[in-house]
Amino acid sequence: MSGEVVVVGAGPVGLLLALELVRDGVQPVVLEALPQPSNLPKANGIVGRAVPVLHSRGLYRALTGRRRPRPAPRFMYGGFAVDLRRLRDNPVYVLPVPQRRLEAVLAERLASAGVAVRRGHTFSGLSQDSSGVAVTVDGPSGSYSLRCDYLVGCDGAHSAVRKAAGIGFPGAVDDAVVSRSAHVVLPKGAVSSLTARLRAPGGPYRPYLFHRTPGGVFSFARFPGAPHLVTTLEWDASVDDSVPMTVGELRASLARVLGADLAVEPPSGTGPHVLRRAVARHSRIADSYQAGRVLLAGDAAHVVSGIGGPGLNLGILDAVDLAGRLAGGGPLDGYDQARRGPAELVLAHAAEQSALLGPGAEVEARRSSFAASLATEAGLRRVAEAIAGG
Ligand SMILES: Cc1cc2nc3c(=O)[nH]c(=O)nc-3n(C[C@H](O)[C@H](O)[C@H](O)COP(=O)(O)OP(=O)(O)OC[C@H]3O[C@@H](n4cnc5c(N)ncnc54)[C@H](O)[C@@H]3O)c2cc1C
Repeated sequence: MSGEVVVVGAGPVGLLLALELVRDGVQPVVLEALPQPSNLPKANGIVGRAVPVLHSRGLYRALTGRRRPRPAPRFMYGGFAVDLRRLRDNPVYVLPVPQRRLEAVLAERLASAGVAVRRGHTFSGLSQDSSGVAVTVDGPSGSYSLRCDYLVGCDGAHSAVRKAAGIGFPGAVDDAVVSRSAHVVLPKGAVSSLTARLRAPGGPYRPYLFHRTPGGVFSFARFPGAPHLVTTLEWDASVDDSVPMTVGELRASLARVLGADLAVEPPSGTGPHVLRRAVARHSRIADSYQAGRVLLAGDAAHVVSGIGGPGLNLGILDAVDLAGRLAGGGPLDGYDQARRGPAELVLAHAAEQSALLGPGAEVEARRSSFAASLATEAGLRRVAEAIAGG
C-alpha cells in the first residue's frame, strides 16, 4: 500500500490537517488507534487566531450556527478580566465548542471528502530514507506496512511518532501545583440569576474567570448541555495522586481556597462528567517539528497547561501551515521556524499567567504593576496579542 501523506491521530489537529490536504488536492491516509471517538470531555472552546481561519473554511457557521465570529469584548488573563473593547483591532476571537463536537464535524467533512479514518489502526514504528517513510501499523486484522512520502504525527502529547523519530520533548514541570476540576451541582441559589455571579465568601465571583484568593485559585463556568464546571488550583505538592479523585475532594479544596464551605454535589445523569485531579503542570516543545520526512503538529509538538485554552489554537494553526507546505505551497523546512515561535510565546504567556496567579505576598506587587500596564493601550495590546496566541 502507499499514500503520499500518512497522518497519525484523528484528534482535532490530525482531522483538520487531513481536510486541508484534501482541499489542496492531496489524499491522505489517516490512522487512529481508538476504535471509536473518545467520549472524554476535553476542550470547551477555541480562543485566538484559529477562529477566523476556521471561519474561512466555513467551519465557524457549521459549529455555532452563527454567521461570523466577532471579537470577544473581554477575556481572562492571569486572573484579570481584560476589557478588550478599548482596542481598535481586537485580535481575540472565541469559538465556544466542545472538542467532541469539533472532532465529529471535522470527521463528517472528511468522510464526505472521501477519506475514511482508519480506526483501530495504531502506528507502531517507522524507518525513513531519502525517498520516503516506511510505517508499521497494528490494525484490527494484524500488523501491516505503508509507504508514504511524508508522515505527520498528530498523535498527542505522548506521541509515538515523535519518539520513533528520535525527537526530544524538553520543557518544564511545575510539580508544586495541583489542579482539581469537576462538573458539580452548586447549592441552590448560590448563583445569582440576575448577575450570574456566585455568592460565596470573598465574592461574588464572576463566571469564566480565574479568581486568586489567599488559599489558591478558583473558577466556575457553565457550558451548554453540562452542569457547572468548578476548578481549583492549589500550591501543595503533598497530595497522594494514587487515590481516585472525588467531588468530596474538590469540596475540601474549595473550602481551603475560598475559606468557607461551598456544598457542591455530584451531578446526576449519565455524563460523561469531568472529575479530574492533575498534579504538576507540563510545558514542553519538541526539539524539532521535523526529522527528515517526519513532521509533528498539535500536542505532539507542544503541550502547555495553559489557562484560557491555548492548545487547540496552536494546533489548528500548525495544521493549516503544514498542509499548505505539504501540498507544495511552501518550503517544508520552514515549518519548524514558522510554528516554533508562536508555541514559545504561548508557553511564555502561560508562565506569566501562572506567576500572576501564584501564592505569596510578593505576587501582589507583580499584580499591581500588571494592572497598571493593562491600563495603557500598549499594555492592553500586548495582552490581547498573547491571548490571541500564535
Ligand atoms: C481537560 C482538558 C481541557 C482542555 N481544554 C482546552 C480548551 O478549552 N481549549 C483548548 O484550546 N485546548 C484545551 N485543551 C487542550 C486540547 O484538548 C489539546 O490541545 C488537543 O486535544 C490537541 O489536539 P491533537 O489533535 O494535537 O491531539 P489529541 O487530541 O491528543 O489527539 C491525538 C489522537 O492521536 C491518537 N493516537 C495516539 N497515539 C496513536 C498511535 N500510536 N497511532 C494512532 N493514533 C494514535 C489518539 O487516540 C488521539 O485521537 C484541553 C485539554 C484537556 C485534557
